[in-house]
Amino acid sequence: VTTSRYRYQLEILKYDYTPVGQLPITPDWQPAIEWARLGAIRAGSPIGVVAASGTVDPIWNSEAGQPYISGFKVSVDGEPARASEFEITYWRSLARAAAATLIEKKVLLDGEQFRYRVAAFPRTDAPSSRGKLDSGVTEVAPDLQLSEGNLADMVAAGSPVGAINPSDPPVFIPSQLIREAVKMKAEAQATETGSVLIGRLCIDRRGPAAELFAVVTAHVPARYTSNELTRMTFTADTWADVHNAISLRGAGEVMLAWFHTHPTRHFCTCEDCDRSRCSLNTDFFSLDDQLLHRSVFPRAWTSALVISDVMDESGTWTDSCSLFGWRDGAIVERGFYEFDPDRADRVATTDGGKGGTSIVKRSGNPVLGSTVGGGRRGAGA
Ligand SMILES: [Zn+2]
Ligand SMILES: [Zn+2]
Repeated sequence: VTTSRYRYQLEILKYDYTPVGQLPITPDWQPAIEWARLGAIRAGSPIGVVAASGTVDPIWNSEAGQPYISGFKVSVDGEPARASEFEITYWRSLARAAAATLIEKKVLLDGEQFRYRVAAFPRTDAPSSRGKLDSGVTEVAPDLQLSEGNLADMVAAGSPVGAINPSDPPVFIPSQLIREAVKMKAEAQATETGSVLIGRLCIDRRGPAAELFAVVTAHVPARYTSNELTRMTFTADTWADVHNAISLRGAGEVMLAWFHTHPTRHFCTCEDCDRSRCSLNTDFFSLDDQLLHRSVFPRAWTSALVISDVMDESGTWTDSCSLFGWRDGAIVERGFYEFDPDRADRVATTDGGKGGTSIVKRSGNPVLGSTVGGGRRGAGA
């Protein structure tokens, strides 16, 4: 049950501040709560007391005044000093969707600039729980499986892919796994395919602030039914495979991310396709992708690897690798580190060396560490 002391309203205005529409919003607080949890852990909050629920309070807009807000703050451990603040851009995509509806109704012109603002009103049926929220998460903080790790060593051993943003919890993905993902995409041809990435969630407490980072070690291919070929889904069989793999490997691994493909070269219907015009020639994370990520991977340190078809300079379709993840409670494209576990793993994590990169076999019982060890080392470099 989600309760809040305030009800929220989104207002859409023309660029000259003429109001053109408003709608009540029921905020999805969980991504903000998860981001606040990460902030509290980084700020030194004892992990055991960081609950999977939080308290949300509006930050009043100092210029426009109440009821308008400039954002909100979330406290997850009852320490106001460790509260995380969010801006109203938290509702950016909702505002865009509302504006699109107003364009359909011809209240706004297509392409016209608009503004949005959010107002908060005390609830008359105010619950007594003082804005305490239940985020709907049954798994609570003490279940966090953490390994001690050395972030600086991992960064030194890895190569950055994409733009590394210091707000993002670092993610390390073995080069071998990316090669396997590209191969899975090629083999599946026009069908979307994917896997669940498992590994160690590490904490490094050496610096002034603790940092959580994700070290991916293996992936478990997704199994789906034959009539769901065009859209990526995770079935109960896949989750069973993942839990079996984690328990068989016995290395304290957790689910960190998922991978799927966008084989868009097979869907292109351009008569004379070229890179500047083809709408499919892009790295993207669809609305379906976002909904799946939100429901299955809500944790602030989880991410989604996508291998997409994009066109290179010469007009040939090629594979592009991108990672999406949470930042300030929103899903954004983000950077990560590619690394070779043989070089990085043992020095960087105290329990390193256990369960290196492997693709866990799809049929029958998941195979423990099927490609770990000397064979891969020989094949690698
Ligand atoms: Zn095209
Ligand atoms: Zn997708």
